[in-house]
Amino acid sequence: MTTSLATTAEPEADWQTLYRRSYTDPQALLTALDLPMTLLPAARRAAALFPLRAPPGFVARMQRGDANDPLLRQVLPLGDEELPAPGFVPDPVGDLAAMPLPGVLHKYHGRVLLIMTGACAINCRYCFRRHFPYAESQLSQGQWREALDYLASSKDVSEVILSGGDPLLLPDEKLAARLQDLAALPGLKRLRIHSRLPVVLPERMTPALTGMLRDSRLQAVLVLHANHPRELDTSVAAALGGLREAGLTLLNQAVLLRGINDNAATQRALSERLFEIGVLPYYLHALDPVAGAAHFETAERIALELIAILRTQLPGYLVPRLVREDPGAPGKTPL
Ligand SMILES: *Cc1c(COP(=O)(O)O)cnc(C)c1O
Ligand code: SF4
Repeated sequence: MTTSLATTAEPEADWQTLYRRSYTDPQALLTALDLPMTLLPAARRAAALFPLRAPPGFVARMQRGDANDPLLRQVLPLGDEELPAPGFVPDPVGDLAAMPLPGVLHKYHGRVLLIMTGACAINCRYCFRRHFPYAESQLSQGQWREALDYLASSKDVSEVILSGGDPLLLPDEKLAARLQDLAALPGLKRLRIHSRLPVVLPERMTPALTGMLRDSRLQAVLVLHANHPRELDTSVAAALGGLREAGLTLLNQAVLLRGINDNAATQRALSERLFEIGVLPYYLHALDPVAGAAHFETAERIALELIAILRTQLPGYLVPRLVREDPGAPGKTPL
């Protein structure tokens, strides 16, 4: 367990340094992975539409020399993104219509989603956020106060979801202040965090952050986002161990991505690996039809067949719920 101790004991500055060392230049990424420079012109053009971003630890899990590596495919800008695709639009989930206040999404009964920051540690090519208008913005103090007032006056809300972007990119002091404000709302019971950081930058899960979540009056749920079992190496397992000990409920959501995880063997391995490190599969999302991501789309028939196979091969609790997000629907739509 020495590796686990070494990882969780790293001082907080380290995750921020690693974040700053992320790959943002397609040429540097291709060089690091021994990939041909013939990929570069298209990568540069697509990166102009939505920048490349991948933390060094995530890139280190990729296979050198493999342009189809399932981790690489999630972050490498491709010429395919430039192709027009009917039905693939900038705001496929209708978020802009569901915002009563800046950064506040109240689409479903009982839970409100707060966009804490537009920034992410990784830019996933399939993300609907690639066209979000306030991509790098954070809620101002005034907007945060307004969001709190909104929550205080919405009597049926028992759960707040911190999302983004990635809420765990906020520094500890700011996060602590936000959690305190939320815990002071008497109607709230649960705090849910949607973050990809435990997977792509596990160094973020410091003892200070873990302590903050453990000590909150609110029951804490952390929903990670991993799409492929190879994302879940020992550094991720170590980071999650501390969170489990702190009593957090750990869930995973994945996106069904053509050529990355659209087969039963990969999905089965993902579920098995998640459980091994203390995480239950939650959602498997059908791709949001966002402009630039059509090449990741999996036919619905294939998605349904895949889940049917998983049901025969895994215990029920390791089969993710296959869902789609429909604008205006009262919850995720099961397929
Ligand atoms: C997905 C989502 C939620 C969470 O839905 P659950 O089914 O509870 O996981 C809440 N609010 C918004 C706006 C969402 O998009
Ligand atoms: S981490 Fe999540 S929000 Fe950020 S780019 Fe990836 S899918 Fe989108």
